[in-house]
Amino acid sequence: MTLVVVGASLAGLRAVESARRTGYRGRIVLIGAEEHLPYDRPPLSKAFLDAGGPGRVQPFHSETVLRDELGVELMLGAPAESLDTDAREVTVAGAAVRYDAVVIATGATARGLPGARTLRTAEDALAVRAALDDGARTVVVGAGFIGSEVASAARKRGLP
Ligand SMILES: Cc1cc2nc3c(=O)[nH]c(=O)nc-3n(C[C@H](O)[C@H](O)[C@H](O)COP(=O)(O)OP(=O)(O)OC[C@H]3O[C@@H](n4cnc5c(N)ncnc54)[C@H](O)[C@@H]3O)c2cc1C
Repeated sequence: MTLVVVGASLAGLRAVESARRTGYRGRIVLIGAEEHLPYDRPPLSKAFLDAGGPGRVQPFHSETVLRDELGVELMLGAPAESLDTDAREVTVAGAAVRYDAVVIATGATARGLPGARTLRTAEDALAVRAALDDGARTVVVGAGFIGSEVASAARKRGLP
């Protein structure tokens, strides 16, 4: 039996943990487009943007825990390209991964503006922080929680 989970973030990780917790002992393959081990996004618009904030994201679990304790095969750094539900295969980097069950946990994509990068990943947060470190005059587009947190981070540094 092979369970394939596509999307190596919070939902994908919770699916893996739930499968093990409820007694599933078969093979699990976790496919993630990002190179990082599953990590939490909320800090990206908070402590991460502070001057001298953490330089890298903190994964939920180390690679050792994921591999040895949760028994997960990691396929990180390349997106799943296609899903064939008849053949029960997911294609990643041109290779087919067979599954008996698949969980799609690919999350959400932020609506962007042409030419602008949105704040969604660790790399995005590092880019925003670098701009704040350079003293950027900040315009925040998106007046929700995340936008407000970025505005707050800029203001905390005394930036306009
Ligand atoms: C900056 C920021 C701050 C936030 N702050 C808060 C907060 O304070 N409180 C709160 O409750 N929530 C917060 N959130 C929201 C929270 O992070 C999300 O609700 C949560 O990340 C959703 O998890 P998810 O696994 O469903 O999706 P996502 O975290 O979006 O993960 C989906 C993953 O799937 C991967 N993926 C997509 N397509 C493919 C593919 N084809 N193949 C392989 N992998 C793929 C993506 O690369 C991504 O890693 C914040 C989000 C951001 C961006």
